Amino acid sequence: MRVRLIGLPTDSHSSFLRGAAEGPAAIRAALGSDHSNMTAECGLELRKDILVEDIGDLPLQEDADDPARIGEAVTAAARDGAMPISLGGDHMVTGPIVAALAVVHGPLNILHVDAHPDLYADFDGDPLSHASPFARIMEAGHARRLVQFGIRTMNAHCRAQAERFGVEVIEMRDFAPERVPIPEAPLYISIDLDGFDPAFAPGVAHHEPGGLSSREVLQVLHRVRGPIVGADIVELHPGRDVNGVTATLAAKLVKELAALAAKETL
Ligand code: MN
Ligand code: MN
Repeated sequence: MRVRLIGLPTDSHSSFLRGAAEGPAAIRAALGSDHSNMTAECGLELRKDILVEDIGDLPLQEDADDPARIGEAVTAAARDGAMPISLGGDHMVTGPIVAALAVVHGPLNILHVDAHPDLYADFDGDPLSHASPFARIMEAGHARRLVQFGIRTMNAHCRAQAERFGVEVIEMRDFAPERVPIPEAPLYISIDLDGFDPAFAPGVAHHEPGGLSSREVLQVLHRVRGPIVGADIVELHPGRDVNGVTATLAAKLVKELAALAAKETL
């Protein structure tokens, strides 16, 4: 299996602060830095045991055609037999990614890390808001199961939406790594970096205390039996980061997600 990195430099659907468009470049820089090697914790090494191709950043225009541009790149990756890891960008991008992969694989099962359920029917009049991608995905029938963890901002509206769509929410107040059900294939993983506690990931727009540690998320990811059909890492805001620690966390997640793609060959 090959992994394809797709940079998605867009943040026009952010609801609070823009800045996530700078995310892909910062993740690439952290991944390429000599501060660390390219090995996932299971021992597989990117570029040696796992082929990784980086197509750079898509030429997004922040217009109505961006979802189609994103979908086309993801479709091309799947057609070429490469597992897409998309680097955000705000969380809007997950909608068109999942829509494209659902055409290839049928409705997906999704494991979603976030402080927020992102289930708003509408947010500030923007149906593509980064607060709404999973409402769009569930309405369209692009997911059979949606399992969310890290969630700690559930209001009445989002609770009603989660119930309506049958979302399996492991709220942060009830979280333990072994309590997160790992859905069956075809599995897609979406990681909003604000699911981590701000102490671990300060480089995000929405600081929400009481979140996940790096190790807790890795403990869940390591329970995935793989392979997965795709993944994204979104909402890195380099302008809010501290000494690049959040970009470095994102780069580590690239390695761990790439290792999951390789699991079918183990
Ligand atoms: Mn979030
Ligand atoms: Mn999100």
